[in-house]
Amino acid sequence: MDQRKPLLRALPAVHEVQSRLEVMEEFTEFLTNHGDKLYLTKLIREVLQKARENILSGRVEAEESQIWNWIMKMMQKELRKQKTSLCRVINATGVVLHTNCGRAILAPEVVDFVAEQAGRYSNLELNLENGERGSRYVHVEKLLCDLTGAEAAMVVNNNAAAVLLVINTFALGKEVIVSRGELVEIGGSFRIPEVLKAGGARLVEVGSTNRTWIKDYEEAVHSETGLLFKAHTSNYRIEGFTHSISSQELVQLGEKYQVPVVEDLGSGSFIDGTAMGFQPEPTVSQAVQAGLTLITFSGDKLLGGPQAGIIIGKREFIDKLKKNQLTRALRIDKLTLAALEGTLRLYERQEADKIPIWRMLTKPEDEIRAEAELLKSEIEELNRFQVEVFTDFSQVGGGAWPTEKLSTWVCAIRPLQGNILELDNFLRTTGIPVLTRIKKDWILFDPRTLLEGDIGEITALLDQWNT
Ligand SMILES: *Cc1c(COP(=O)(O)O)cnc(C)c1O
Repeated sequence: MDQRKPLLRALPAVHEVQSRLEVMEEFTEFLTNHGDKLYLTKLIREVLQKARENILSGRVEAEESQIWNWIMKMMQKELRKQKTSLCRVINATGVVLHTNCGRAILAPEVVDFVAEQAGRYSNLELNLENGERGSRYVHVEKLLCDLTGAEAAMVVNNNAAAVLLVINTFALGKEVIVSRGELVEIGGSFRIPEVLKAGGARLVEVGSTNRTWIKDYEEAVHSETGLLFKAHTSNYRIEGFTHSISSQELVQLGEKYQVPVVEDLGSGSFIDGTAMGFQPEPTVSQAVQAGLTLITFSGDKLLGGPQAGIIIGKREFIDKLKKNQLTRALRIDKLTLAALEGTLRLYERQEADKIPIWRMLTKPEDEIRAEAELLKSEIEELNRFQVEVFTDFSQVGGGAWPTEKLSTWVCAIRPLQGNILELDNFLRTTGIPVLTRIKKDWILFDPRTLLEGDIGEITALLDQWNT
C-alpha cells in the first residue's frame, strides 16, 4: 500500500497550525504583530506545501503520529528566521563600553530625540534663516567648541575615519612621525600604521617601544614631514623603564618646524575621572589647552554618545578637512548627528549624570551589592542553582582606562544539574540573550551594566532552564 496517503491525510489545516502557534511563548511578539495578517497564513501555507512535497517524494521520515511534531518543528524554524538579526541583549558582563554589544548606550531623552528625527523631516542641511542650503556640521560645531575650548570642530563616521581624513588631508604623499610605543592596534582591525598607509602617508617610526624622547622626533623632521602624530595607547600600558613625550613638547616642536601636530585621543573624555578615583588621563579640554593643531576621538566611548569621529582644533585646519572629497564619503548620518547633539546638550546643561555610561562607571558599590542580593534571592526561589554574592571587578572597556579595575559585587550561580558551559549557551540563545562573565566554576551577573527590568528578565529566563 502507498505509505504516502495517510501521511498526506494527517497534515493539519492552516488554522490548526495557527492555533498551536498562538500558545507558544516564543512567538507571542511576532503573532501580536502578524497573527491576523496574510503574511502568517502565507508562511504556514509554504511550510505545509514543503511538507507535502517531502511526503510525495518519499523524503519524509516522520510517522503518521509524529506529523504534528514535524510540522511544528518546520514552523518554528521558519518563524525564527523572521526575527530581526539585530536584537536587544542583556549585558551582565560588567564591561561598560562593550564593543561587541554596541559600546555606549544612549540616554533615554536622547533616544526620544533620535526617534523623532528618524520619522520626520528636518533642517539637516538647511539654513532656516535664509532658506538656503546649510551645513550638517553646524548642529554640533558650536556645542563642541563651547564644551572643549577648541576654535572649530567637525564630525565624521567614527574615529578611524577621523584619523584617515586628517592623514589624507595633511600628509598625502608625505611622512608622518609616530613613536614606536604608540603604534596602536584597536580590536576590529584599526592599526595606526595601516590607517596611515590607507590615508596615503608614509610612517616614520621613532624611539623604541618603551622609550621615546623629543630629540627622536626632532631628528626625523625634514621637508617631507606632513604631521607629527601622537596616539593614545588606549588598550595597553607600557610599564617599567619608560619614557614618552607630552603633547606640549610635541606642540613646541611642531611650532619650531611649522608642522601640524595631531593627537588621536581614542576615548576622549569631557569628564576628569581622577575625581572618581580613576588614573589621570587627559580630558579633551586639557588636550586643547596643550595647543594641538587637531585632536580626534570617538563618540561612543567615554563621551557616551553614538558611533562618531569627532575632530576639533584650529579653524584653518578644520576648514581644509571639510574641503577634502573624502569628507563626503565619511560623513556622519542624520540619526547619528541627532544622537550626538542630544548627548552634547546633556553635557552643556551639566547633566552628565543622565548619560548611562557615566552612571554605570560611578554606580555606588552598595547599590550594586543590593541589586546582586536581589537577583540572588530571586534565583534562589527557583531551587535549581547554587547562588552566592561576592566581590569582583568590572571593566570600563572600549579602550579606556585599560588597567583600571572597578570594584563591584556580582551574583554568581552554578546549576545544580548540567554544567556552566551549557547554562552559558542557554542564556545566550534563549529568548533575550544574556551575556555574562565566567569565572572558575561560576557564571557571574554584574549589576553594574544591568538596566531597568533586566533582573526580572534574567530570572524569568533562568526559570526556563532544565524544565
Ligand atoms: C577606539 C580607538 C580608535 C577607533 O575609534 P572608532 O571610533 O572605533 O573608529 C582609534 N584610535 C584609538 C586610540 C582608539 O582608542
